Amino acid sequence: MQLDAKIPGGPLQEKWDRHRFELKLVNPANKRKFDIIMVGTGLGGGAAAASLAELGYNVKVFCIQDSPRRAHSIAAQGGINAAKNYPNDGDSIWRLFFDTIKGGDFRAREANVYRLAQVSNLIIDHCVAQGVPFAREYGGLLDNRSFGGAQLQRTFYARGQTGQQLLLGAYQSLMRQVAKGQVTVYPRREMMELVLVDGKARGIIVRNHVTGEIESHAGHAVVLATGGYGNTYYMSTNGKGCNVSACWQAYKKGAGFANPCFTQIHPTCIPVHGDFQSKLTLMSESLRNDGRVWVPKDPKEKRRPQEIPESERDYYLERMYPSFGNLAPRDISSRAAKRVCDEGRGVGSTKLAVYLDFADAIKRLGKNVIEERYGNLFQMYDKIVDEDPYQVPMMIYPAVHYTMGGLWVDYNLMSTIPGCFVLGEANFSDHGANRLGASALMQGLADGYFVIPYTIGGYLVGTKFDAVNTSQQQFKDAEGVAKDRIKKLMRIKGKKTAEAFHRELGHIMWEYVGMGRTDERLKKAKELIPALRAEYWENVKVLGSADGFNPSLVQAIRVADFLEFAELLVVDALNRRESCGGHFNEAFQTEEGEALRDDQNMAHAAVWEYAGEGKEPILNKEPLVFENVKLAVRSYK
Ligand SMILES: Cc1cc2nc3c(=O)[nH]c(=O)nc-3n(C[C@H](O)[C@H](O)[C@H](O)COP(=O)(O)OP(=O)(O)OC[C@H]3O[C@@H](n4cnc5c(N)ncnc54)[C@H](O)[C@@H]3O)c2cc1C
Repeated sequence: MQLDAKIPGGPLQEKWDRHRFELKLVNPANKRKFDIIMVGTGLGGGAAAASLAELGYNVKVFCIQDSPRRAHSIAAQGGINAAKNYPNDGDSIWRLFFDTIKGGDFRAREANVYRLAQVSNLIIDHCVAQGVPFAREYGGLLDNRSFGGAQLQRTFYARGQTGQQLLLGAYQSLMRQVAKGQVTVYPRREMMELVLVDGKARGIIVRNHVTGEIESHAGHAVVLATGGYGNTYYMSTNGKGCNVSACWQAYKKGAGFANPCFTQIHPTCIPVHGDFQSKLTLMSESLRNDGRVWVPKDPKEKRRPQEIPESERDYYLERMYPSFGNLAPRDISSRAAKRVCDEGRGVGSTKLAVYLDFADAIKRLGKNVIEERYGNLFQMYDKIVDEDPYQVPMMIYPAVHYTMGGLWVDYNLMSTIPGCFVLGEANFSDHGANRLGASALMQGLADGYFVIPYTIGGYLVGTKFDAVNTSQQQFKDAEGVAKDRIKKLMRIKGKKTAEAFHRELGHIMWEYVGMGRTDERLKKAKELIPALRAEYWENVKVLGSADGFNPSLVQAIRVADFLEFAELLVVDALNRRESCGGHFNEAFQTEEGEALRDDQNMAHAAVWEYAGEGKEPILNKEPLVFENVKLAVRSYK
């Protein structure tokens, strides 16, 4: 596998400008000769599809939901970062770049991260022009708040619905292109296969969720923007439909999968409350702007939180990380919560929770200000937990939330398969081993609005294309593979639902590949996952028929992919002989229990190559070269 990141030469600040200049342009009259397949309509795919169509390309858009505007990005709550420096508190492109590289524990590519910081400001201007209703200050300027891992305010937000408002902006741009005939939307389609012709990505096979038909679609390039794989853990803050399938199928066709073990566990989620729960709810990180995190000092404490005096509380984040306090980054805050709970000081009936307390903020600012800032989040908490967070501290606990790993891409966002581009959470590019809050929306929109519109042109104009159509053998073969897979699943007629297998996989992942990893536990997971997978293919029960609407079949296809992918995640975790960001192997920690990197041997992206069924994947490495920041121990003290 060739890993040429294609990082442009020259000083960091000039790389993107220079690259855009050096990329060949597609003549406007020629753009309409190119067909682009966009899989995914979240902020990455939606923004890209609208922008590419605006440029004049023909775009076919696919998503699993009934409408592009229901992509999972709609769930994003807290905000989007940009280096505008409106609060005049010391921000700059350089600082956003540095915070992101440091936040990712020095495991991301400098050039990509710098470009992300550069285009962050354009995103805000673009979205404001679309009419996205960002919160404003009294004077009319857009308001900013803080997120983890930053000591200033650079997060733009629309109450606790930032993702929804941004997605509506992208959706309206997309619909404009649909009306112009430049975009065709194919909702309720599940990508089953990537089709390669002469080694290039030239099409996809999808299953129509409503009719059950297997359809082929051809184009000059395929863009995957299919989101993250957090649901490998079964329970996560992700929507139930989030899956790894499209990326996994691309991996099996030759796309390198980078750093799959870099999963983010978010510190502020509503704790698990029972065995029959299938999903977890995020309480946005923005709440840590005003909420204070604490546990009782005494493990035997039985009183209600309001009755515990200040002197008997441990505001552990403020104590351990005085400079960043409650806004320490997610990986660090999650591990700190686990640590106090492991000490027996957790709260609630399961003792696996900590308090997030707004009493001080309400006293200082008044209930109305807190309500203005976080009203919908407080309401959500109240509805789920049946407790009023204005009166009683919230109870929160870490949960799987985001995945920094993903398909490997070069500076142009192209995977190791020519013509297969990957955007948003589905790629590995910008967040290293830990993503800072409010940076996923920034990355998805940067990729979609401001990077792919340039880089895909360079590929299209510089590549010789033979004509392809869906009656070619490559498409027929891929259709056959998809149909056989469905038949095989339908024939099993076992006794256990795909849901039950997924839940079991989730238990294995959380128990053995969770917040505190050890070689012993990882090896155990590596034994258990193939055994569960073998049982799956003998005993899964898929209801209904393959010919029409069948959620049981849709789920069975996705769980089959999770069961394969999970093993790769474990292999990657075993291979990374250090702790960094979201990957914490207990054998590699400082005396104070912080992650201990090995920059000498592990400063690379681990890129896995599919070697065939039943064979160990092949490891390739992209060395990470740091010319502009000094690798240092990440400290938030
Ligand atoms: C609860 C929650 C809150 C969050 N809050 C924030 C926040 O405040 N700020 C921030 O920066 N980030 C936040 N994030 C993270 C952020 O929302 C996501 O990382 C981001 O929205 C992902 O966008 P995306 O375009 O990559 O993918 P998605 O929005 O997940 O879209 C994926 C698209 O791919 C399609 N798709 C998926 N699989 C297939 C398939 N097999 N076949 C065909 N189509 C497929 C789907 O239909 C969908 O259209 C939050 C995440 C969660 C879970």
